[in-house]
Amino acid sequence: MSNNRSTSSVNTKLLIFITLGIIIALSAFVILNSQEEEKKNEISFDTPPPIENQPTLGDPNALVSVVEFGDYKCPACKAWSENVFPQLQKDFIDQGKISFSYINVLFHGEESTLAALASESVWKHSPESFWSFHKEVFHEQPDHINHDDLWVTPEKLVEIAQRSVPDLDIQAFKDDLAKQTFLQEVQLDQKLVDEYQIELTPSIFINGTMVENPFDYERIVELIEQGLESK
Ligand code: CA
Repeated sequence: MSNNRSTSSVNTKLLIFITLGIIIALSAFVILNSQEEEKKNEISFDTPPPIENQPTLGDPNALVSVVEFGDYKCPACKAWSENVFPQLQKDFIDQGKISFSYINVLFHGEESTLAALASESVWKHSPESFWSFHKEVFHEQPDHINHDDLWVTPEKLVEIAQRSVPDLDIQAFKDDLAKQTFLQEVQLDQKLVDEYQIELTPSIFINGTMVENPFDYERIVELIEQGLESK
């Protein structure tokens, strides 16, 4: 009798262990599977977005090319530019490991186009001042609550350019905006937007792969490191 009781208690313990084992194995499977899912949602292209004639920081021939498709009117792009980009710059651009390029997206209408035209003009006339102009435009974007307000105007862009582009030719800059001098460059960017299936901004490419969540810095680092190890 006592033997039976002890056998039954051993059986119960065994059952608990087996059950726990199955639960642990199943959770591990679910976690692994969801990680797989996450990677499957990343879109990859055979070739990275071409960066010729695009504003580029670092060595354009670096092993890893990081490209941002961004829109000066987009609040998430401001957040990315102010929170993620400085870390990327410190960890990889300043270390000479990657190139970083910016391509214009026009998802917010005329204001997006105007800011894009202004950035192309600065890039053409004063390439060394492009990144300070770029940073200042995002800095001027109103906070999230008011982001639909009209704020990209020729006057505002002239004001930003005056303080971020030391050798600015104000008249030429104003003319470039009024005459849409660099419309072709902006349109070339839109061809890339279509070609690389950009639906959200910012979209961040590490070589040919579009990272699913541009704010997932860990994943960005992982993809960059994969790229650096690939040769
Ligand atoms: Ca461009």
